[in-house]
Amino acid sequence: MPFKYQRSYHGPVEAVILDWAGTTMDYGCMAPAAVFMDVFERQGVPISMEEARVPMGAHKRVHIQQLTEMDSIRKRWQEKFAREPNDDDVSRMFADFVPSQIACLSTYSTLIPGAIDSIKALRSDGIKIGTTTGYLTEMVAVNLKDAKTQGYEPDVTVCASDVPAGRPYPYMCLLNAIRLGVTTMEACVKVDDTVPGIDEGLNAGMWTVGFAVSGNEVGLSLGDWSSLSASEQTKKRSKAYQRLLQSGAHYVVDSIADLLPCIDDIQTRIAHGEKP
Ligand SMILES: [Mg+2]
Repeated sequence: MPFKYQRSYHGPVEAVILDWAGTTMDYGCMAPAAVFMDVFERQGVPISMEEARVPMGAHKRVHIQQLTEMDSIRKRWQEKFAREPNDDDVSRMFADFVPSQIACLSTYSTLIPGAIDSIKALRSDGIKIGTTTGYLTEMVAVNLKDAKTQGYEPDVTVCASDVPAGRPYPYMCLLNAIRLGVTTMEACVKVDDTVPGIDEGLNAGMWTVGFAVSGNEVGLSLGDWSSLSASEQTKKRSKAYQRLLQSGAHYVVDSIADLLPCIDDIQTRIAHGEKP
């Protein structure tokens, strides 16, 4: 008979894997952007906030390397040093980056409005909370401590330095799956404010949700975002939605305050036999 039979997961959503900066804390993903700018400034090759944000989500050393590979920055480096930036330059800037980032993380560690309520609701549905980040172990330790004092404690935290490669590779999500003890990737949802973070979830075979307004795509603190006119907000919001939707995210919403309806919808789709 000309039929084939397809297996599909029909169980509950088991885990939500959240990013840190721009997703659960640090509205606008300000902490890393500011430090990347400082690091290049100290080299005598200043970069703009927009440039600093382009590779966001990657391992921080890879981020610096990708900045040195951007045409605009490479050109200015060439003008300053009469040579192209090399791997030694990347290592030197990364060594400068690490202590500077650790020193200022707590300045930007306020949880994003809605985080506590959304996470509490997920937990009451029996959903486990994992996390991934482009930060290194010693950086995420600061975030974990600051999150705990605000009432947020994820079950699992995996950072870029725990795996062979960070985003867009799926390894941090896969290590979360192992440590959280989930049944299948189809029962997991990866949530992030950057394109590499969405890629990470898709590469792991998970459902994905992008946060357009609270994170790197709009790139404004809550105060600066709130002070924009309605028309300026609409313009920035639609650009951010387009970027994240084009990355293949299953859902794009403003922030973690809007996460729960996405999880409910995913649950419905799973019940109907859909896969990520
Ligand atoms: Mg982020």
